Amino acid sequence: MQLTINLHGTTALILGRADATRRAVRRYTTQGATVCTATTPGDANATMLDGVALVVPVDDGQPGWVPILTMCQRLEILVAPEPAATPGGRVTLVGGGPGPTDLLSVRAVAALRDADVVLYGCLGPQDLGLLAPGARMVDVGKLPGHHKIAQADIEELLVAGALAGESEVRLKGGNPYVFGRGGEEVAACAKAGVPVSVVPGLSSAIALPAAAGIPVNHRGVSHMFTVVSGHAPLTDSELDHLAGLGGTIVLLMGIGTLPHLAAGLRRAGMRIDMPVAVVERGHRAGQRTTRSSLGSIERAAAACSNPAVVIIGAVVSVNSPDELEQFESLATMAVNS
Ligand code: SAH
Repeated sequence: MQLTINLHGTTALILGRADATRRAVRRYTTQGATVCTATTPGDANATMLDGVALVVPVDDGQPGWVPILTMCQRLEILVAPEPAATPGGRVTLVGGGPGPTDLLSVRAVAALRDADVVLYGCLGPQDLGLLAPGARMVDVGKLPGHHKIAQADIEELLVAGALAGESEVRLKGGNPYVFGRGGEEVAACAKAGVPVSVVPGLSSAIALPAAAGIPVNHRGVSHMFTVVSGHAPLTDSELDHLAGLGGTIVLLMGIGTLPHLAAGLRRAGMRIDMPVAVVERGHRAGQRTTRSSLGSIERAAAACSNPAVVIIGAVVSVNSPDELEQFESLATMAVNS
């Protein structure tokens, strides 16, 4: 049982070996309890229960806790057993999706719950106090142009923590391998001999168009989509190929380079009335969609800011209010005929 309650002013006694109880000790301390511990059954006695409101036996495999738990029962002290913390010394890259907690995967939630340390950024879920109540939080957030902590230092932190026996979670917005530098962090761990795994997440490249009602593909409209980073401008040859594909283009980190991309696609022959949408702050308060066309997107997007995803392609108008009206009238005609 894992309790998440305000324990200010209470004393909790945690039973079990230090490696097994480390997560429970941190969590109850974070929740405001005064924590005392008994690491072996031999340490536990009746006087330890004086003033204790809660006893947490952690299942560390040691027999012999029964006498103290029986005393708790007699004294009507609340007992909240829990499993041992998973062995540390490893790194898990977790894809946090676009923000809302209920868009995290079950595996991501479990990894956060088991973490000793969470290194997080500015994208992805923000409800970390609830998701990882037993973890130390390290903000390594990067905003465009503002690198709080350099990438090499993040990798060093991950490796050092894991080598010290901690379970480190590197929480990223969206999917760790989609413009997330996840590959570099996995390589750094592998090089240092640290066990590392990756929990995929829902990428903004797919979740953000959906949040604005835009399907990245649509039968008869587009049968491919290309995800492009706007971090650096594309070359002329890349722009030619992109325009030539004829599918949907999804641009991430692209507000700064959007004028260059739009001009390049026009030069490469893409029609100027190609629909374009900019979705800002998707799945968050203040989500906004700006719809325009390739010919005038620079002006329309001048007031847009990061984080934003840009979608270029005929799919943008598939579910536009006009189109929906058309579908509706077709459906009504079908029903009436
Ligand atoms: N790994 C992430 C992408 C990291 S690059 C993923 O798979 O989603 C960062 C870019 O993602 C931002 O510049 C923006 O283009 C996009 N992005 C992520 N979350 C977003 C959100 N909530 N709203 C709008 N854009 C977002």
